[in-house]
Amino acid sequence: MRPVTATLINLYHICHRELWLHAHEVRMEFFSDAVQDGKLIHETSYPQRPENFREIMIAGSKIDFYDRKAKVVHEMKRGNKAKEAHVAQVKYYLWLLEQHGVPDATGILEYPRLCLKQVVKLEPNDYAAIATWEVNIRRILDGPCPPVINKPFCKQCSYYEFCYSGESTLETGS
Ligand code: SF4
Repeated sequence: MRPVTATLINLYHICHRELWLHAHEVRMEFFSDAVQDGKLIHETSYPQRPENFREIMIAGSKIDFYDRKAKVVHEMKRGNKAKEAHVAQVKYYLWLLEQHGVPDATGILEYPRLCLKQVVKLEPNDYAAIATWEVNIRRILDGPCPPVINKPFCKQCSYYEFCYSGESTLETGS
């Protein structure tokens, strides 16, 4: 069975084609200004953080900043246009922590460029939603590469040229 990760949960809420491409190791982020800018934000925001928080791996998902003492997951993002996907990603981290013996953790979504923060908690109805996300993700990944979605935010996506050059001919999954 394919492993589902928090990154895949995020991409599932943005674009099923991007989810499929990322999971099948088709990577373009090295050529993306937006992705490189996001990395810069990670490296330069909150310079005191590395001393206080730890990077942890849990069931294949990497949490960049985890405050073990306070049981708080800090997730930093460049912009908040895909906030639903960001919230889903953090909820998945909280769910993973609970599955591995750390209940009642809290998430904080941080948007340093926007000076915004949002607290994220695992709610009772999230359990069924997460189970559905996992089933749907596995079904997408086992199928053919989904079609392009023609959304305005495609222009910000690292796969933009790949998707709209007219030359991408990926047909089969798994
Ligand atoms: S460019 Fe658009 S269709 Fe292609 S992977 Fe990115 S978001 Fe999806």
